[in-house]
Amino acid sequence: MATTRHVSVKARDGGLSALADRWPLLGQRWPLVVYLCGIVVLHVAGTAFFGSETIIRWVDVATFAALMACGAVCIEASRRLGMPAGVSRDLLSAWWLPVALLLPPFYALLAPIPLQILLQTRVRQTVIYRRVCSSAAIGLAGLTASLVFHGNVEELSELRAATPSALGMAVVSALLFTVINTALIAIAAHLADPDVGWRAVLWNRESLLLDGVELCLGVLVGLACGLNVALLALTLPPVVLLQRSLLHAQLQAAARTDPKTGLLNAATWQREADTEIVRARRTGDTLGLLIIDIDHFKRVNDQYGHLVGDQVLIEVANVLRAQLREYDVVGRFGGEEFVVLLPGADTAEARRVAERLRQRIGCMAVPTDHEVITVTVSVGVAISNVHGDDLLDLLAAADLALYRAKELGRNRTCLPASPLAGSATPAAAPIGRLPGDVTDDPAGELVGELVGEAVTEQAEPSPCPDAADGDGNTLRGDTS
Ligand code: GH3
Ligand code: MG
Ligand code: MG
Repeated sequence: MATTRHVSVKARDGGLSALADRWPLLGQRWPLVVYLCGIVVLHVAGTAFFGSETIIRWVDVATFAALMACGAVCIEASRRLGMPAGVSRDLLSAWWLPVALLLPPFYALLAPIPLQILLQTRVRQTVIYRRVCSSAAIGLAGLTASLVFHGNVEELSELRAATPSALGMAVVSALLFTVINTALIAIAAHLADPDVGWRAVLWNRESLLLDGVELCLGVLVGLACGLNVALLALTLPPVVLLQRSLLHAQLQAAARTDPKTGLLNAATWQREADTEIVRARRTGDTLGLLIIDIDHFKRVNDQYGHLVGDQVLIEVANVLRAQLREYDVVGRFGGEEFVVLLPGADTAEARRVAERLRQRIGCMAVPTDHEVITVTVSVGVAISNVHGDDLLDLLAAADLALYRAKELGRNRTCLPASPLAGSATPAAAPIGRLPGDVTDDPAGELVGELVGEAVTEQAEPSPCPDAADGDGNTLRGDTS
């Protein structure tokens, strides 16, 4: 069930007003604001309407309280693990779905509210409108599931007896719950960023698997609670355990990646690259290492602001992901610098890939409020067995080749001409270096000593008709 896809949307590019600082919702794109307000109004109106229609019975209140208490225990039990930023998943629908199946529709609308308040106060503070909108999406999905279930199953005794029709309706209602919640969140994600493809939000294999697990859990907990509320005590431990392992897996994945671009972060990239290099040494294969640095990136920030700069970083990362194979190791080394390890690549192949990446990034168009900007990159390439045989040597060689590419005018790919094999690793080439150090490095002598004259791939004519020509960042026409 998508009950716990929390709304996560990006701030709009451009200057954020003081008002938007106080009310972050106002800083979003207006179609998104209208949409989110719409679902919240529907949720509030539905709660008022069904609240006035519902006869409050103490047995319903007690069941509702027991299910909410289980949800609260689940949240508390995994609280110390934390919650990954952005869109995250949990198994709270194991408690929301039974509310929809066992109680009048009014309770389905109420159910997300106490648990979202608990998440906000005890686990992760996020902008209030996200919590409110998540509650509304879950509430509306729960309402639909509840109406469909109660419209087709007259007596709860049918569910307790597990008749095929009642069980079938429980599964159909759970499916509806998932589909509606997913659709409501997917529309919000699409309105927040129209570039996010529908497929990416709706058809993620991992997500579908989780939806299936939540559906099964929700129906099983509903059945148990329908038989006897006390059975919730038996369902709670396995759900807590599953919830903890799910959060743990999400946090582990988040710790591996750079939050801005989704590529591997520097530490993980180094670890994985090291493993590949050791493997290549054992099998005698070659591999290529590329350092890719955006040219004059500081100018992008200075001219268009950091939000646009961030967008450029994201677009460059997308090009790298799209252009490389699944087993290439791609990471953000820091700032505006990316690293790629190409297992199995020899000199010719690494040069070809580097040139393709350089050209594709040169074709990239990043829209801002008034114009479309393009950027170019310089690439330093090193090959194992030719320019070094461990990560330190290869990084040093690629770094010096990159330095050379910058010196020769940027927007080009450079290879070190003289093999470094057997030569001393320069003490001045630390692995964890951040971008900017290259140009700050007084490495004139290092370049001369270790690389000699670099072989450069001259900037070829770009395959995109109106791409940036020459080095640096250029405007691509006014779209205003
Ligand atoms: P060169 O062509 O020599 O590489 O010039 P450059 O301007 O790209 O390099 P420099 O090292 O002078 O500037 C890098 C800039 O990258 C400075 C820093 O503010 C910016 N930067 C680093 N990390 C981020 C980030 O996460 N987001 C944004 N928007 N900018 C960043
Ligand atoms: Mg740069
Ligand atoms: Mg740099």
